[in-house]
Amino acid sequence: MKEHFVFLENKKAHIEADEILPPEAYSFYLEFFKAQYDVYAGLSRMRIEFSLPEKTLPLVNAGKFAFADDARDAMKDALVKLAGVISKYNPGLDYSSLIAGAGSEPHFMENLAMKLLSRDSDLFQLLSAEYRIDADELIFLVVNWLKPYFVLFAEKNRDAIPCDEWEEGKCPVCGYFPDMALLKDAMEGKRFLHCALCETEWPYKRLACTICGEENAEKLGYFALEEGSSYRVDYCDNCHGYIKTRRLSKAASDEDYDITVENILTVGFDSSLIEKGYTRP
Ligand SMILES: [Zn+2]
Ligand SMILES: [Zn+2]
Repeated sequence: MKEHFVFLENKKAHIEADEILPPEAYSFYLEFFKAQYDVYAGLSRMRIEFSLPEKTLPLVNAGKFAFADDARDAMKDALVKLAGVISKYNPGLDYSSLIAGAGSEPHFMENLAMKLLSRDSDLFQLLSAEYRIDADELIFLVVNWLKPYFVLFAEKNRDAIPCDEWEEGKCPVCGYFPDMALLKDAMEGKRFLHCALCETEWPYKRLACTICGEENAEKLGYFALEEGSSYRVDYCDNCHGYIKTRRLSKAASDEDYDITVENILTVGFDSSLIEKGYTRP
């Protein structure tokens, strides 16, 4: 897993100068990414044996997900810890009933994970009402709580699967949505999608909507917020979906980008697109 807090710290001067994030939001993400990396480091040290029931893609079966037994206690602690950081910066957010559920109900954590993996936002609306937590806040917590586990799972297993032959808009490892796309100049401008959950990158058609698959060029467009920016937005007039894209120059190395953090640093794009009536998955 990339050290997201290090990438964020390295961007501090730029974030402040361009007022990309308010200071409290910067402090929140820094503390949150550190706590999340601690969870990942803890899980890594445990040498978890992940079981792979089937070799079909996506590797994780959204209907039959279970945590590795050794990881269950650590995942319970992680939920408490990460919810604690969010509540510290947002005193109005109360996750106590959710945490109580994880501590007492069997399969609670698995059910939460399966609801997320099924990519059905209606299920989260119901949970949101049940636990009195805003649905977006709940999804933010669940994605980020599961992230260290799924990133570790992806790191251990993705080399064994043919990611290059996968051409869908969902992740070949965990089946979740991409948060952003990448265009890699070093690979003749090949396009990749980056998973919002397990951070796997997989290739995707250069000219097609990542949400509905539309290939009619007249319905697809893109724009950059500023000239010369390495970010652009690709949008689709068939499904009114969009995805933010990071262009990587030929010289860019792995340390030069961190999509998970850059997705947060480009929220300006999201607000302008949502105002225009576009949506993201
Ligand atoms: Zn994934
Ligand atoms: Zn579309």
